[in-house]
Amino acid sequence: MAAYDTIIRNAEVLTPEGLGDHDVALADGKIAALLPRGAGNAAETIDATGQHLLPGAIDIHFHIRAPAYPDRGTVESETRAAAAGGITTLFEMPISKPCCNTAEQVEIRRAHFAEHALINFGLYAAPGDLTTASVAAMAAGGIVAFKIFTTTAPAGRDDEFLGLSFPDEADQLRALKAVAATGLPIVVHAESAQLLASRNHAARAMDPADAATHLAARPAICEAVAVAKLLAMNIEAQARLHIAHVTSALTVDVLRRFAGSSDFSAETCPHYLFRTQADVARAGVFAKINPPVRSQADQDVLWSALADGTIGHVTTDHAAFSYAEKLASADNFINAPPGTPGSEVLVPAMLDAVARGRVGLEQAMALLSGNAAERFGLEGKGRIAVGADADLMLVDMKGVTEIGRDTLLTFARDVAQLYYGARFSGRIRGTLVGGRVVYDGVPVGEPGWGRYVSPKHRTSQSNTVSA
Ligand SMILES: [Zn+2]
Repeated sequence: MAAYDTIIRNAEVLTPEGLGDHDVALADGKIAALLPRGAGNAAETIDATGQHLLPGAIDIHFHIRAPAYPDRGTVESETRAAAAGGITTLFEMPISKPCCNTAEQVEIRRAHFAEHALINFGLYAAPGDLTTASVAAMAAGGIVAFKIFTTTAPAGRDDEFLGLSFPDEADQLRALKAVAATGLPIVVHAESAQLLASRNHAARAMDPADAATHLAARPAICEAVAVAKLLAMNIEAQARLHIAHVTSALTVDVLRRFAGSSDFSAETCPHYLFRTQADVARAGVFAKINPPVRSQADQDVLWSALADGTIGHVTTDHAAFSYAEKLASADNFINAPPGTPGSEVLVPAMLDAVARGRVGLEQAMALLSGNAAERFGLEGKGRIAVGADADLMLVDMKGVTEIGRDTLLTFARDVAQLYYGARFSGRIRGTLVGGRVVYDGVPVGEPGWGRYVSPKHRTSQSNTVSA
């Protein structure tokens, strides 16, 4: 009888000790052993000659929105696309209809995702009415973290942002303190509502079809001011603060100045690292994202922030809208819905950065996986080690990933113009979730296979800040 369920043979394997020649044995969804070449026997063998075996990506910023808006994609379609992109766990944001802002909504979304997800998933919640009982009940429902916006709800979307948008600073401080009491992180979309309102007013005098109008409506100062205020508040609140999608040199400067002042972390996304405003101008409103993609100078500083650890996470901010929704505002950057799909771009883009020597492979995987597991308390994820979950990707570092409408699996392939024509060095050959292959060049996973992930160390009802 076979000792293991599966052995992945002949890959170069990235472990916490670095790249090594191991055959990796899997059993019961976990990594059971790192074996010498050719050792052991298993029911199934995967020959990964010429490939790297890496931890699967943990994408901490994803918007499917389900069960609402099936016209923008479904849990099945978007987790299938994520699997093709090497993502083995995603964290779903709370924007839905209605907003995920009560324990009851957490349960509804958890049940929906559990039925349809091909990969593992965690849920964010909005802190809602900020009452101790409601916030604690959501935390007890196993969410990975809370999310807030410092901006007002977009026009016509009040119900999606109810208990999620906190443009008032007094409410932001209350939210930080309410979440700090749960021990869970709080993730913030940080742009100053007041500065946005004044800049948006000025931008309305500009040509709405011009991509520069979007930048004028949401300049970097809006982001940097909101982040600075949050970081100042967090010295008092002592929450585990995480700043979503940092876009600008100015905000990186703010993050560096507050280093060590409280427990905070930050992320950025491939569109800010690999694209500039010139690319947005070419792609039109399909590339409208909030906050906006900025200049080459901003991009260069973001890379330096990855290098020095100021920013510790790279995420998709996968946010699909339908082609019809984007097209309805094709000539209007102010009104067009913000967001672009990133499920199948994140990992190939970062592998390309590895190939170009911009970042080391170990650091890239920390940015894509290991740091997320640590920051959000996912025990057994983010690394290849005996006893860890068998959430893995097989990568051909010499392969090429071409991005185009016909290569993408995301439901939103029609609105991925920002990346059409991209050619990244490195190609994902396989993805395993819980020891089972869910992608091997084509998606082969089963809806419902993904597991709900919850943080391990949660200090409920206390103000303890974990180090
Ligand atoms: Zn987002």
